[in-house]
Amino acid sequence: MSADIIDGKAFAASIRDRVAAATGNLKEEFGLTPGLAVVLVGEDPASQVYTRSKERMATAAGMASFEHRLAEETTERELLGLIDNLNADPEVHGILVQLPLPPHLDSALVINAIDPNKDVDGFHISNAGRLATGQTSMVPCTPLGCLLLLKDRIGDLSGKHAVVVGRSNIVGKPMASLLLGANATVSIAHSRTADLAGLCRQADILVAAVGRPGMIEGDWIKPGATVIDVGINRLPSETEGGKDRLVGDVDFAAAKEVAGAITPVPGGVGPMTIACLLANTVVAAARINGLPEPD
Ligand code: NDP
Repeated sequence: MSADIIDGKAFAASIRDRVAAATGNLKEEFGLTPGLAVVLVGEDPASQVYTRSKERMATAAGMASFEHRLAEETTERELLGLIDNLNADPEVHGILVQLPLPPHLDSALVINAIDPNKDVDGFHISNAGRLATGQTSMVPCTPLGCLLLLKDRIGDLSGKHAVVVGRSNIVGKPMASLLLGANATVSIAHSRTADLAGLCRQADILVAAVGRPGMIEGDWIKPGATVIDVGINRLPSETEGGKDRLVGDVDFAAAKEVAGAITPVPGGVGPMTIACLLANTVVAAARINGLPEPD
């Protein structure tokens, strides 16, 4: 039997609708317009696409969007100066610095200069520590989106065995913390894991965040498992002159014959990431102003 395809696009649209409603309420009841500042340094084409869609969707949800495009050769001092200004700006509630930064800039230094209350990407060390210790924090958008998809599909995650393949600070580790927080039993796998296929076969929930096209094979998947494919890999078109293809870390065609449910790429986790960014910005605006958080 073929797996259910988890429609991240539709679910993300429903989150954006809720964010737009919450934004409308904040404006009407408190005269507060949530504001998101997006900072892009350099000309990376993929980053340009991502930042444009973040700005477009923030505006569509009724938020204020502040765009800062800086030249590739921007110095650390200049960038930190901008972040100081954004930290102090009462109209800005969320600050996002698009990664990767050009190599001469220290990403950790820059991210940790953001006011943690405005760190809507959830990458500041204090938010990472708060998440890891089970305290209220800004939660990184991609793993948050994955958790929402899993809860929507499965309901209670208690006692499920979740295997997260990938241990990055922006996806794998926060994903594992969120799953632990939801009472799953969590294994984290990485490039040194022995018998990765055997471990994956034990997973009721399999989250792939690796960056290797189709690495997770169909027979690595436990029949009926829920598979969340975070990977975004760009491959050349199969036809001459055609557009590049986006594929995930899971061999989708094979996996969907075994899994109970699976996210497609594109149209799975990707749209959830931006929706969660907008949701985090509304939460930040409410928290900063001492107002109740929207649901
Ligand atoms: P990183 O490169 O930071 O981390 C990749 C992880 O995969 C590492 O922990 C690495 O292990 C592990 N890994 C690499 N090769 C193997 C292997 N052969 N077997 C097992 N584990 C392996 O990537 P990110 O976490 O930033 O991103 C992962 C993927 O998710 C990428 O495709 C990225 O484009 C995508 N992504 C998608 C987003 C979305 O919105 N949908 C948002 C963010 C990322 P080790 O630590 O040992 O090196």
